[in-house]
Amino acid sequence: MTRVVITGAYGRMGREVIKGILSADDFTLVGAVDVNGVGEDIGPLIGFKEQGILISDNLDTELQNKKPDILIDFTTADVGFLNCFNAILHGVSPVSGTTGMSDSQIEQLRMLCAEKQIGAVLAPNFALGAVIMMRLAGIAAQYFPDVEIIELHHDQKIDAPSGTSLGTADVILAAQSKKSTSQDNSIEKLKCARGANKNGIHIHSVRLPGLIAHQEVIFGGPGQSLTIRHDSYGRESFIPGVLLAARKVRSLKCLVNSLNELI
Ligand code: NAP
Repeated sequence: MTRVVITGAYGRMGREVIKGILSADDFTLVGAVDVNGVGEDIGPLIGFKEQGILISDNLDTELQNKKPDILIDFTTADVGFLNCFNAILHGVSPVSGTTGMSDSQIEQLRMLCAEKQIGAVLAPNFALGAVIMMRLAGIAAQYFPDVEIIELHHDQKIDAPSGTSLGTADVILAAQSKKSTSQDNSIEKLKCARGANKNGIHIHSVRLPGLIAHQEVIFGGPGQSLTIRHDSYGRESFIPGVLLAARKVRSLKCLVNSLNELI
């Protein structure tokens, strides 16, 4: 049995992860941490009976007293970074879906994992369909140098552009055999009308109530276009990927920054 502590347990993703962990027979949930709902039993939070696990606001205590094998983190960027750092220091492997960590924060975690010989998985998107979308984008990028990304999320999402869109841009940039030669002469009548620009790839972020997590990667060529689209209709779409990472993370001795490296 793999012992799990969840940070961000009171949040939307945290609750889905609690359900997923309690429903899997190879994991035991031993602790839950959040700044909200402190002292509440995690069972009723997700419509289950009481589980005897109360939300704590102190990760250090949970790491020391509950002796977890892994930490699953869905919080905010700076908190997620500190949680993962702390976990690795305690010899606990983090699996984090928190988006918005800086390159330097990820690099610090990578170095700490290498020093401690501990596995970690940081994945901007745990939906398996999204990971496959990124792979397909990598194939298309070898033949279509002109591409733009539209990512669409619920209006509560804090960071923009999404971690998935940035990860997709990285995959495309690495796969491109030639760069776009088409001229973008458009004059922006409103600032950022053409979206953000990551090394020549335009990324457009849409935030609206009713959406969950969606992305289109649109490749254009003379007389044709190719659109690769993925939709997450509910947060449960992320759970199989979280469990897959949680099952593999302890066999790693380094940090991996995408689910792509595990499937
Ligand atoms: P959320 O509902 O706001 O949940 C985050 C929870 O963490 C909140 O309860 C938040 O409290 C809490 N928190 C804040 N500071 C904390 C601390 N110091 N210790 C412990 N908990 C703390 O957000 P969400 O929708 O679940 O998303 C969480 C993260 O996961 C975001 O970065 C999101 O982009 C990411 N995400 C990733 C994937 C993926 O597949 N990788 C999928 C969905 C979401 P407050 O509300 O008081 O700040």
